[in-house]
Amino acid sequence: MSALDTILQLAYIVAAAFFVLGLHRMNSPATARSGNQLSAAGMTVAVAATVVLVATNPAQGLAWPIIVVGVVVGGGLGLYTARTIKMTDMPQLVSLFNAVGGGAAALIAIDDYVRLAGTVGAGGGAIDLQTVVASILDVLIGSVTFSGSLIASGKLQGLVTSRPVVFPLSRPLNVGLVVIALAGAAFLLAGNVSVPVLFVLILVALLFGVTLVMPIGGADMPVVISLLNAFTGTAVAMAGFVIGNATLITAGALVGASGGILTKLMADAMNRSILNIMVGGFGVGEAGAGAAVGGGPTGSVREINVDDAAIQLAYAQSVIIVPGYGLAVAQAQHSVRELADQLEEKGVGVKYAIHPVAGRMPGHMNVLLAEANVPYPQLYEMDDINPEFERTDVALVIGANDVTNPAARSNPASPIYGMPILNVDHARNIIVIKRSMRPGYAGIDNELYLDPKTGMLFGDAKDALTQLIGAVKAL
Ligand code: NDP
Repeated sequence: MSALDTILQLAYIVAAAFFVLGLHRMNSPATARSGNQLSAAGMTVAVAATVVLVATNPAQGLAWPIIVVGVVVGGGLGLYTARTIKMTDMPQLVSLFNAVGGGAAALIAIDDYVRLAGTVGAGGGAIDLQTVVASILDVLIGSVTFSGSLIASGKLQGLVTSRPVVFPLSRPLNVGLVVIALAGAAFLLAGNVSVPVLFVLILVALLFGVTLVMPIGGADMPVVISLLNAFTGTAVAMAGFVIGNATLITAGALVGASGGILTKLMADAMNRSILNIMVGGFGVGEAGAGAAVGGGPTGSVREINVDDAAIQLAYAQSVIIVPGYGLAVAQAQHSVRELADQLEEKGVGVKYAIHPVAGRMPGHMNVLLAEANVPYPQLYEMDDINPEFERTDVALVIGANDVTNPAARSNPASPIYGMPILNVDHARNIIVIKRSMRPGYAGIDNELYLDPKTGMLFGDAKDALTQLIGAVKAL
């Protein structure tokens, strides 16, 4: 190994160390920003080392223009999207990034296999087993991730229906796809070199990605998004094995492992088993997808005005704020902080209840409230805050819906039955800020709004909070 090779390998180890330290710093919101910067620095080192590697390798002549075009187009697009994306559109973007990551990893294996097949195949030899294993896994996982993440992104963007879509015969179709994939993989593992078979594997995996994600809908989307994230990491790690690149292996393994842990956490939060998720077709509830709308609770709604709400809040001893997706849409995080400050000045104890799947991405509410500098100790996880609702004077629900729906506890026919929710209905009084009686992401009515303890304050979250701040101040 030349001195330059040693330096490049060291650079890759430094990059990997930066990734690990960066990830570690993301443990807490206080250090997360620097963790992100550290990881970005690690990636810069890795990219620089790769550029030097290519520049000093005469056999890679053509790679230069490709690298330059890739950096300009990919980097430019990434920078532009990251700077212009609305916070509420982040989940779709993350899903798109998953698709790009999985697709890129699969392309690495396809390129490598096709080239090896060209050289080895001509001489009647075989490709070494380690490369074949890594290539098959990379192609399968990467392709499933690519098509699955595109569908997930479409569902979150509203381009594909967010309702679970169950095709007739979808289970036998999935089984058939798995059987073809296993047969194709066995054929290649047996020492046969065949590019057409590799392409059959790709096709089967792409189809499987679609049939895996289409039946998932409503409240189960967070689990599939983190699962696809874990797949992306695993595919990237496999690509690292294919081309013998330690940074790809480390970065991919980190994403795969952390995505896997997140999937387990999200699955637990939704009360689903990971096996269910892998099998697919979940999220339709016992009564099937048709139960998602209609047949909902009946009763009358009590509408209140800003002054009623302000009096309830200002004269309460304890208030729990329940933020949800609508708070993010309205960009009302600064207003909610201002209202909480006002209430605290009047001696009201204020806490925030964070549901793990509130919003549209894992940690959405934490990120949103951190942006408004809400003190971190005021944020309570679901299990910690739930016992407190019954001792609380007012639960103030702002743009949250599914995560507060008591049907998850009481209605076995509901698509969200079994999902742990915030026990908002146990509070002494409930104020809900939203614009209408429209349902949330899962598409189901919420019986909380018909509870006699609930007052509905209709309006955009930011407008309503601005008016509330004025009204509380005036008291
Ligand atoms: P929901 O999607 O259940 O409800 C959000 C509510 O916000 C809507 O009912 C809407 O009612 C209201 N709203 C929208 N815009 C505004 C506005 N400008 N001002 C005031 N209210 C507004 O959100 P939750 O956070 O309760 O639940 C999250 C849901 O998303 C769960 O079903 C979860 O599974 C799913 N999900 C979560 C992901 C994650 O990773 N966290 C990823 C993908 C899906 P109205 O229109 O009447 O105003």
